[in-house]
Amino acid sequence: MEINLAVLDRQFELHQTEYEQAALRALRSGWYVLGNEVENFEKEFAKYLGAKFCVGVNSGLDALTLAVRALNIGEGDEVIVQANTFIATVLAITENHATPIFVEPDEFYNIDAEKIESAITPKTKAIMVVHLYGQATNMKKICRLAEKYNLKIIEDCAQSHGAKFQNKMTGTFGIGCFSFYSTKNLGAFGDGGAVVTDDENFAEKIKMLRNYGSKIKYHNEIAGVNSRLDEIQAALLRVKLSHLDELNEERKKIAARYLNEIKNPSIILPKIREGSTHVWHQFVVRVKNRDDFQKYLEQNGIKTVIHYPIPPHLADCYKNLNHRRGDFPVAEKFADEVLSLPMFNAMTAEEIDFVIDVINKF
Ligand SMILES: *Cc1c(COP(=O)(O)O)cnc(C)c1O
Repeated sequence: MEINLAVLDRQFELHQTEYEQAALRALRSGWYVLGNEVENFEKEFAKYLGAKFCVGVNSGLDALTLAVRALNIGEGDEVIVQANTFIATVLAITENHATPIFVEPDEFYNIDAEKIESAITPKTKAIMVVHLYGQATNMKKICRLAEKYNLKIIEDCAQSHGAKFQNKMTGTFGIGCFSFYSTKNLGAFGDGGAVVTDDENFAEKIKMLRNYGSKIKYHNEIAGVNSRLDEIQAALLRVKLSHLDELNEERKKIAARYLNEIKNPSIILPKIREGSTHVWHQFVVRVKNRDDFQKYLEQNGIKTVIHYPIPPHLADCYKNLNHRRGDFPVAEKFADEVLSLPMFNAMTAEEIDFVIDVINKF
């Protein structure tokens, strides 16, 4: 049996007719940029989250970058971020010429809320939280710190569509930044992203920034960019959003089988924090001899991916930050040990059986 990490055509096939009708509706409308589909998707996604405003942009990275920019965070400012994230989280900070201040992750792979306070300096402007792999971060402590030190909270929700902390959606504790890249839980059929906020002025600012910095065409108030969610993607996302809860439920069922049935003492299974929900963007295990384990799975037809092999502080592009191996030992250990198992919608019971069986024989 051959099993990939994610098989996206199956997700399309689950609701194929609806996607085809939505795409045709957008194609036949004659209006392809910032029209009804984007406007309706923005309303529907804001409503789903329990937020007031949603602004569609071109990608998750753009959502994060524009959020940092709209907060006027730049040169000389510091942004606290977890050391075990995807590079895009950090790029959004450095693209704005601000400095990322890394903090170690906790056992749930989220930022360790206990280690944030000692990283705060007079230059700190924001805490960037990543609900990594789909599990909501412990927001209670972080919201308290943000209030105490007057810091903004930016949430990287690229992997957490629908995940909640204490019954409140991720993306509604601070400024929510979402990616709709195809593999994400709420994935488009191409690129897409959104910024979510309850602050109308902030939403207006993102709307201006995404459209060359103008509210009224050809009246440019700020030097903006072109970063718009396009109509066809928005039409397709409206279909997927209407099924998001059932798609997440299905991922939870796959995760429950892995958690109950993988029984191998050399494999550390993911843990769920009390008060958080997990939407299983990735099912990440840890193994001491990870590279052997990955090779063994590959030989048995099971494809896996490492999220992520090099923590941002050790990336070649950030040599200028002068970090060394040993600076963030927890994040480095995770980078050496993590492995993401196959997890996708419409994965069959036989495929799940097979993955479990092969892993238990390792
Ligand atoms: C995917 C992802 C991003 C970037 O989103 P794009 O839409 O690909 O630009 C940012 N942060 C995290 C944690 C991601 O997983």
